[in-house]
This record gives sequence, C-alpha cells and structure tokens, in this order.
Amino acid sequence: MSVFEEAKKYIVGGVNSPVRAFKSVGGEPPFIEKGEGAYIFDINGNRYLDYIQSWGPLIFGHCDKDIEGAICNAVSKGVSFGAPTTVEVELAKEVLELFPHLDLIRFVNSGTEATMSAIRVARGVSGKDDIIKFEGCYHGHSDSLLVSAGSGAATFGTPSSPGVPSDFTKHTLLAKYNDIESVKKCFENGNVGCVIIEPIAGNMSLVPAEKEFLAELRELCTKNGAVLIFDEVMSGFRAGLRGSYDVYGIEADIVTFGKVIGGGMPVGAFAGKREIMEQLSPEGPIYQAGTLSGNPVAMNAGLAMLKKLKSNPDLYKDLEAKAKKLMNGFEEISKENGIDIQTNVVGSMFGFFFNSKKPKNFDDVNESDTKRYAKFHFEMLKRGFYFAPSAYETGFICTVMRDSDIDATLNAYKEIAPSL
Ligand code: PLP
Repeated sequence: MSVFEEAKKYIVGGVNSPVRAFKSVGGEPPFIEKGEGAYIFDINGNRYLDYIQSWGPLIFGHCDKDIEGAICNAVSKGVSFGAPTTVEVELAKEVLELFPHLDLIRFVNSGTEATMSAIRVARGVSGKDDIIKFEGCYHGHSDSLLVSAGSGAATFGTPSSPGVPSDFTKHTLLAKYNDIESVKKCFENGNVGCVIIEPIAGNMSLVPAEKEFLAELRELCTKNGAVLIFDEVMSGFRAGLRGSYDVYGIEADIVTFGKVIGGGMPVGAFAGKREIMEQLSPEGPIYQAGTLSGNPVAMNAGLAMLKKLKSNPDLYKDLEAKAKKLMNGFEEISKENGIDIQTNVVGSMFGFFFNSKKPKNFDDVNESDTKRYAKFHFEMLKRGFYFAPSAYETGFICTVMRDSDIDATLNAYKEIAPSL
C-alpha cells in the first residue's frame, strides 16, 4: 500500500488541504521528507526543484539559516504565552513602516482568519452588510467568501460549498475581475460596506489587475462609503516588498497579509487606517480574538523574514528576472511546438495558461486547456520539477534558485512539449 493510501485511512482524502491530493492533475502526491534551499526531497529520496515554496511563504527557500535560527532561538524561550511580547511590536513596526497609509495592525494565524476578520471590521465600520468580491479571487474558506456566481442577471453569490447557508452568501455580491461596470452594478443597491479583491490575483493562476480598473475601484469605494480591502495574503512581500503598492501605488483602507509575513510559520495579519482599526476590540466594539495570535515563535520567524527582505532591496529585481527567464523560455518552446500559451510575471510570482488569449478575468481563465496542464504537471514532476498540482495556482521563485535551475526546467519542458 502506498503512503498516500495509508494516509487516506486516517486523514480525509489523505491530506489536510484539498489541492495537495492532486485531484485536478491526477496521480499521487509525493510525501515530502525535507526541504533544502530551492529543492524538496520526498520519502523515496527523489529530489524536486520546488516552484511552490509552501504556496508562497518561503521566498528565501527551504531551511534559510536566519529564519531557522530565529525560530530555534524563540522555541528555546517558550513556544506560547498568550500574553504580549516585544517581538509582536517589532514585527508590527517593520510592516507598518513600509506603508504610509496603514497605521495599526492585528496578527492572526492564517490568511482565512485575516480576511474574515477584515470583513467584519469593514462591515462594522461602514454599518452596511453587503460585500463585493470577484469571481476567481480566493480569500480563504470563511462562509461569506465561499460563493460562486448566481444565475442570470443576479449579482449575489450562491454557496459554493454545502454547509454554507444561502442566508450568509446573499450578502456577497460577485463582480467580474478587471470589469468596472460589473462593480458599479453591485453598488446599485446602496448597501455595500466593503469590497475585497486580490489586486494581483494569484488564485486563477496569475492575473494582475489593470491599473485603471483598480484606480476606479478605489474611487467607487470612496464615493459609496465602502471599505476597500486588498487581500495581499499571497502578493504581500512577493510581488514586491510592499506587494501591490509597489506595482500600482493605490491605497486600500485595509490590507490583509499571510504567507511570507510568517516566514513559513502560521501567521496572518490585517492592517488599516487608524480610524478603522480602532473600532476593533479592545479599543472598540468589533470583536476579534485568538489564543495563539501573535505567537512568539511565528512572530520571530516573520521578523527574521522581514528584516532580511528589507536588507536586500534588489532582491525583487533578481527574482523577477528569473521568473521572466522561465516564462519567456516557456513561450519560446511552446511556439516552436505549436502550443498556445500565455504568461504573466509580477515580481517573484509567475503564471501561465494554455490559452490562445491572455486572460483578464475568471471566464477567460476557464477557457484554458486544463487537460494539457495536467499532462505538463505529470511529465515535469517525473523529471524532478514540482509545479502546482492545479492549473489555477501561481508559481513562486525563491532567491536560492539559480539560473542553471531555470535552464534545467526549460530543458525538461523542451523534452516534453512535443507530447503535449
Ligand atoms: N487570501 C489569499 C489571496 C490566498 O491566496 C489565500 C490562500 O492561499 C488565503 C487568503 C487564505 O489563506 P490561508 O490558506 O492561510 O487561510
């Protein structure tokens, strides 16, 4: 019996987060024993070049000595207190210093918690219940965000999972990414308290927002008294040191973070303008709490990560150059083999679509050839290249990936392209 089969005997589907089960690409997931720099090794001793990097957090690769050292040092002093520690203050300062428009922060344990709490604050502050989200954006698995498009002309979402009451999702209006008219339509009812968006969408592969669209979205929120939330759980410290702010310079009212901010430990956070964040308990009436929030081990990992990022200002240029080398190579090889492909790169994030037209929204993304992606995934994994087991995910470059790693990836793609 394979380890995966054994895992299924005890853990639902053999995994603790669905995408890991390889359902959309087929085959069995390798079980990972260890990571080392840009590579991971499975329990059978196979080595893979890791383009997932724990789904984004590990921008310096696996087992970075500075982050590892910070974690070990913190562990030796006690793993949790449920009481304030100075490292929380230090990390808060390091984050807020980067964003002139964000005054106060709260740390939580995951991206899901960050977006769920940010929405509560936004609703509490605006006094309005409806929220707008965009098709193809993912913000974690809280009830009001698990929605898919309703039928016909309806803008409100329907639950995308059993167990989510439609009474909850009737307050979630769905708009189309990069389509400002669809947002205006949602605003018509006058009850929209907040808009949540991934300014650089990383959950329909990689689709950056158009600058004009984001700017108009900002204006619409201001005009309608709605709180604008940028969900930068993925793009934060990844698209650039200041996430989408480096790319667009647009100021959201609340920004959510996750992944990189915890250095690989479970951390989420949301930060916003003072007048909004002061409505949160214990300062204000909007409730939010957490036993392990601001956990000292996780905070120390995040602090080591942030300090290291800040002391290497050119790192994003280098990461982007490597991501571009990879994507340009994919384009060239695809062309030689008559394969339609579209690619996007923002900082250390990359995405590609087997599609004849560059996707601007989720409908376009859904026209991509996912069967071809599954084949690509299977063949590349066999050759030691670990890409996301779903066509709808973003890829990540880490600082310890060398040009020779990218060359090896391109050589492997060249080998398999004729059979795709
Ligand atoms: N928001 C975005 C943009 C994400 O990409 C994710 C996870 O991938 C989340 C929120 C949820 O974060 P978590 O999985 O830590 O709950």
